[in-house]
Amino acid sequence: MAEMRPPIESGAPDPMQYMHPVMVKNYGKWAFHDHPKPGVLRHRAENGDEIWTVKAGTQRQMDVYTIRLLCDIADKFADGHVRFTARSNIEYMVSDPAKVEPLIKALNDNGFPIGGTANSVSMISHTQGFLHCDIPGTDASGVVKALMDELYDEFINCEMPNRVKMSTSCCEINCGGQADIAIIMQHTKPPKINHDLVANVCERPSVVARCPVAAIRPALVNGKPSLEVDEKKCICCGACYPPCPPMQINDPEHSKLAIWVGGKNSNARSRPTFHKLVVSGLPNNAPRWPEVAVVVKNILSVYKADAQPWERMADWIDRIGWPRFFEKTGLPFTKYHIDDWRGSRATLNASAHIRF
Ligand code: SF4
Ligand code: SF4
Repeated sequence: MAEMRPPIESGAPDPMQYMHPVMVKNYGKWAFHDHPKPGVLRHRAENGDEIWTVKAGTQRQMDVYTIRLLCDIADKFADGHVRFTARSNIEYMVSDPAKVEPLIKALNDNGFPIGGTANSVSMISHTQGFLHCDIPGTDASGVVKALMDELYDEFINCEMPNRVKMSTSCCEINCGGQADIAIIMQHTKPPKINHDLVANVCERPSVVARCPVAAIRPALVNGKPSLEVDEKKCICCGACYPPCPPMQINDPEHSKLAIWVGGKNSNARSRPTFHKLVVSGLPNNAPRWPEVAVVVKNILSVYKADAQPWERMADWIDRIGWPRFFEKTGLPFTKYHIDDWRGSRATLNASAHIRF
């Protein structure tokens, strides 16, 4: 009988090999951690060992020179150990408190702000964008850079009622997940179909199956197999565009940006929540997206002034209610905010089962 082939493990590599030695030594034996200042965390182990973490913001999409610079700083001022967070912050770990301030100075001198911890506005997490995904309707990392330039002071200080986690997503699939404030691409017109290409490029049954509202049907157009969209049903979600690029939905005029608030992934203090749409139809105005910045800064300043200490955005809105949220922020409440849509198939494809 043939020998069994061992399974190929291609998941995340073992993290222990990359950890700071003090972290490896004290794995699972930490007594407490505190937050001496914005951007700095201190963990103390049961045996008295300490590890200090310094968090710096980056521009996220970095050239190799910037990455080398960050690594050189790690070699010179830290103990040579770094990690990147999901929000594109870089964290340096040092075991000697005397190394913390020189490390902060080296990072600041090279243009990297220190912050993003506790009740600050952390770096905006963003979806993969043009570099790694084939369907973006905007440049998610550009929106992040433009907005974080405006929110610099909120990153380096801890002055918000609670942590603020923001995200940007460059299509309505929203792989950016839930956030206190989310900036999400919003298509406002059904896809335009290039019928000459559909038969060569798309697997029509997969495209038909993708549509959450069953708006796509196979059709013969000019004697060629193609697809058609029932525009009365289409909710402009863009889900048909990834498996069938000839169903072009990105549009310089009709693809907009929308702002959603009150999402939360964690279970801390209150249950996780889905964010809700509060502003739609903002122009996709690269390279600085000023209209988006105005709305985000307005929501943040009202939240900062009105929320009680340690209320997350969702907790604050829960307490004051949506009518007062719109009143206090001065954002217009329109009929489009009322979720009275009944067009989905029973599940809206919300099942966690994997489908192909
Ligand atoms: S949000 Fe959409 S376009 Fe952007 S990376 Fe995710 S799936 Fe791709
Ligand atoms: S955009 Fe969404 S709703 Fe419209 S046809 Fe494509 S998959 Fe269906």
